[in-house]
Amino acid sequence: MSTEARYDRMLRDAALRVTRPRLAVLGAVHDHPHADTEAIMTAVRRDLGQVSHQAVYDVLRALTDAGLIRRIQPPGSLARYEARVGDNHHHVVCRSCGTIADVDCAVGEAPCLTAAENHGFEIDEAEVVYRGLCPRCAAVPVS
Ligand SMILES: [Zn+2]
Ligand SMILES: [Zn+2]
Repeated sequence: MSTEARYDRMLRDAALRVTRPRLAVLGAVHDHPHADTEAIMTAVRRDLGQVSHQAVYDVLRALTDAGLIRRIQPPGSLARYEARVGDNHHHVVCRSCGTIADVDCAVGEAPCLTAAENHGFEIDEAEVVYRGLCPRCAAVPVS
């Protein structure tokens, strides 16, 4: 199956109408994991030509609501989008350049859900953000 056919199928399975902007945004998020809205906009415009910010925002919201993409927003960072959904993975964020990479859940399934103290809440999600320097930034000599 071609990638375009695969995205087409994903939209249909999520009961979303297949439109060119939706296909283009879905493709951009798959091709650029953890891209912010600007980067997605650039990729979509390369694909479709002129398309409004609002249209791309609307598509991102629809795809996120349908669970086809995931929106993440580490503290102090712009919203980013990724196509890896439904597996409770975490992220490591570079303190210097903002690069983001995936980190699998530490052990087995969602161990972070066992909070030391749950304060009576029924907890169903935990989000961990690791911070540090990416290899490229760590290699830059401090001047
Ligand atoms: Zn970095
Ligand atoms: Zn991720």
